[in-house]
Amino acid sequence: MVAEFKTAVATCAIYAAMVLVFTAISLYTAPQGSQTGTFRPVATIPYHELLLVLLGIGLGLVASVFLWGRNWAFVFLMPLLVVLTDLDHLPSYFNWTQPIRPAHSLIFIILTVALIAMVIRRRDVEFVSLSAFFAHLSIDTGVFPPFSPVDFTYYNLNEFRIPFLVAAVAFALGAGYVGRRSRGKVD
Ligand SMILES: [Zn+2]
Repeated sequence: MVAEFKTAVATCAIYAAMVLVFTAISLYTAPQGSQTGTFRPVATIPYHELLLVLLGIGLGLVASVFLWGRNWAFVFLMPLLVVLTDLDHLPSYFNWTQPIRPAHSLIFIILTVALIAMVIRRRDVEFVSLSAFFAHLSIDTGVFPPFSPVDFTYYNLNEFRIPFLVAAVAFALGAGYVGRRSRGKVD
């Protein structure tokens, strides 16, 4: 159990570091015209983040239940990863100009999962990271740059909400499935 939580903390650290790296790079690579990210009205943040946390806990439970309750670390790893995605608003917090949601990017999640795969070496944790990322995007509103930090063309999130939510649930189930299978071999 302790090992599970260590894995979860290490995964959060990698994920958060990658969000910050993407945010830092985007400050240099995003053209002037796309540096239009702003902080959402402060009063709306708690409600938005609460929604993200609740969906994260829900998906963590989905993954855990599918594991027959054997990996409760997912129930706190999932919401943490969901919320950590918003660390890319940090420059706006300091009133710096920045592009919109630089880590809400497909390139971000591909590279981050690749790094998690190399360091953590757990297929179920890769699936949890994918699930958390798509869960986050399914709750956000407005626009996102799917090819940040290379290209800052913005797309409307509303059009992708359902596929992203389906992807989030599918990856949560996948996490439970591959986790159970790998445990079956180990135990
Ligand atoms: Zn967000």
